[in-house]
Amino acid sequence: MTIREHIERDVKAAFLCGLSGMILIMAGVALGTWLEPWPVEKVFYAIGGVLLLVGTVRLMAGIKCPKCNHALLWSNVNLGAVHVWAIGKAAYCPYCHADFSSPMP
Ligand SMILES: [Zn+2]
Repeated sequence: MTIREHIERDVKAAFLCGLSGMILIMAGVALGTWLEPWPVEKVFYAIGGVLLLVGTVRLMAGIKCPKCNHALLWSNVNLGAVHVWAIGKAAYCPYCHADFSSPMP
C-alpha cells in the first residue's frame, strides 16, 4: 500500500462517517413527522450529530502524513487548495516532501 492509498482510504472513511451522520439527521426529520408521539427523532439527531462532527473534524485535522505526522488537509487549506479531494492529487507532503507514490513507512 502506498502513502497515497493510505491517505485516500482515510479521507473516504471520514467522508462516509460525516455522510452517514447527515443521513441519520435527515432520517430523524422524516421519522419525527410520522412517529410524532414518540421522540425517536432525538436519538437519530444525537447519533447523526456525533457522526457528522467526528467526520468533519477528521477531515479537517485528522488526515495526517504517515512520515511527519502533520495534518495534511489543514495544511492544504492554508496553502489555498480548499478542495477536499485535492489531497488525492498532491504528489508530495508540503512539510516533509515525502513522495505519496512511495510505499508506506
Ligand atoms: Zn509529511
